[in-house]
Amino acid sequence: MADSPKHQFDTLQIHAGATPDPATGARQTPIYQTTAYVFRDADHAAALFNLQEVGYIYSRLTNPTNAVLQERIATLEGGVGAVCCSSGHAAQIMALFPLMGPGKNIVASTRLYGGTVTQFSHTIKRFGWSCKFVDFDDPQAVADAIDDDTRAVFGEAIANPGGYIMDVRAIADVADAAGIPLIIDNTSATPYLCRPIEHGATLVVHSTTKYLTGNGTVMGGCVVDSGKFDWSANDKFPSLSQPEEAYHGMKFHETFGAMAFTFHGIAIGLRDLGMTMNPQAAHYTLMGIETLSLRMDRHVQNAVKVAEWLEQDDRVDYVTYAGLKSSPYHERMQKVCPKGAGGLFTFAVKGGYDACVKLVNSLDIFSHVANLGDTRSLIIHSASTTHRQLTEEQQEAAGAGPGVVRISIGTEDADDLIADLDQALTKATS
Ligand SMILES: *Cc1c(COP(=O)(O)O)cnc(C)c1O
Repeated sequence: MADSPKHQFDTLQIHAGATPDPATGARQTPIYQTTAYVFRDADHAAALFNLQEVGYIYSRLTNPTNAVLQERIATLEGGVGAVCCSSGHAAQIMALFPLMGPGKNIVASTRLYGGTVTQFSHTIKRFGWSCKFVDFDDPQAVADAIDDDTRAVFGEAIANPGGYIMDVRAIADVADAAGIPLIIDNTSATPYLCRPIEHGATLVVHSTTKYLTGNGTVMGGCVVDSGKFDWSANDKFPSLSQPEEAYHGMKFHETFGAMAFTFHGIAIGLRDLGMTMNPQAAHYTLMGIETLSLRMDRHVQNAVKVAEWLEQDDRVDYVTYAGLKSSPYHERMQKVCPKGAGGLFTFAVKGGYDACVKLVNSLDIFSHVANLGDTRSLIIHSASTTHRQLTEEQQEAAGAGPGVVRISIGTEDADDLIADLDQALTKATS
């Protein structure tokens, strides 16, 4: 078995979930470019529709290429199952959907990807959901914010963009005490640097658009379930513990046990919300994951080198990267993600907003784009782009103030990246 859970990460990232194609022996996972699957007979079709047999009906729900990707990510995260979907933002809705209802709320970290702050502050209100933002460095404040209607706690292991590391265990303990799940967005860390389930998280969400695919080609998202949460322990999660009318009164948790959340994600979430990943995207993401550990090691090595160089430069005010010994989060990094703090950080340029804009315009290797986690080095001025919809107070809290740029360090030669930053800083500050 090439994908036994006993194998190490470098082996699992290539083999988990995949076997040679049963029809042709194809060694690489084929792209099953089909919308539907022929039933053996009418009884087979009925069993599939009743969830009595697991199989393929229609690619809005399941697809064999996506299934390999789901198993691969679940294995790398140490979860029991995963559901892939069309984007990272879709994954967040897919994760919350079974837990929430009108009048229910989540408690989330102030340090989040800008698009997530917008999704949680505005868009989810249309579903009757709401979000309270709290400083996750203060577990007591998180505990105080949780009320009888809170259904989840949400944070990022390594936060985008601020070089912040979350004490996942401390916040998991708070969520456990309240009988609600902790959801971790593990996009910036990837399961190579951090495995949130080992630190007590219930669910892990990803934008697979970023490091997992790793080459800036396709959008995607994923929700991984630890399988450890008891959805029937209280009456807070009726979608999972109570009879489901659309399946003849079946109870998901009673019927599927540890796989309840994953099956609900497919049988209700993908079926009715339709945020499906396409098999081409699953293919590109599978390609990317094969080299995840190699890339992440290089991202970290380069990020440390570039951050150390920036930190000693007079034209730079400060650098927020948890991989720097000077970072207030360096010690926490040793506990949460000892292999490194990722490839993403921010730095403040002397000269503020105007200098940041000049810097972004003067770089040659770095591209000015709203993406991260690519093999190419990328830069963005968050305050005028990804975090533009936020108030200045929210920008500061997220580590994306007006005088700060975020960089996503690629896997190029670190000295070339430093030379590029050097010439651009000269133009930006002269
Ligand atoms: C990009 C990103 C998202 C959103 O993912 P999309 O694939 O762009 O929808 C969510 N969280 C984090 C941390 C991200 O970097």
